[in-house]
Amino acid sequence: MTHFCPTPFQEELTPEDFIHCKKCGLYKHGSRMIWGEGNPTASIMIILDNPGAREDKEGNEYVCGTRETLQLAANHVGLHEKDLYITYILKRRPKRAYEKEQTRQICIHHLHQQLKEKKPSLLFCLGNIAVQSFFQNADVDVKSLRGKVHYVQGYQTIVAYHPLAIRRRPNLWNLFLDDWRLVTKHYYS
Ligand code: SF4
Repeated sequence: MTHFCPTPFQEELTPEDFIHCKKCGLYKHGSRMIWGEGNPTASIMIILDNPGAREDKEGNEYVCGTRETLQLAANHVGLHEKDLYITYILKRRPKRAYEKEQTRQICIHHLHQQLKEKKPSLLFCLGNIAVQSFFQNADVDVKSLRGKVHYVQGYQTIVAYHPLAIRRRPNLWNLFLDDWRLVTKHYYS
């Protein structure tokens, strides 16, 4: 059996127009903007809360725990970088306390713009923050929404736990795989 080794997905560079965005104040945290990664024209768009670190302290590229678990599950169901585009509710990684709700409401406009341009056929929201932000409903959660396809803002949307939740609670791994299988089923249908 071939051993799968996650490697960093290709980053989609932030468009010139937005590279100096300071709308939400997160630029003060010093993390750089990450627009997305994977295949920018993929039919499946994965939405996470915010980017993880792509570089270690020395500036070397590496695969963080979130991306490692995400890629392992994708590989398990036969999906690869060419099939997936990953983006975030926040395009910068917060490093300290911030005004969460207000910041998400501001930055999510960039996601809406990406949706208009890329027109993915299927969205896959990972984790409660991404789900609540995209569904625009603070009362929903992954536990009650996973396992079926929802239509949100005109898009077929499937939800699953955040990869970090899977790392913390390995008993969720099989549920996570079930959700990836649901994504695969709709991707090929
Ligand atoms: S996180 Fe979003 S709104 Fe905030 S500065 Fe970055 S792109 Fe702009």
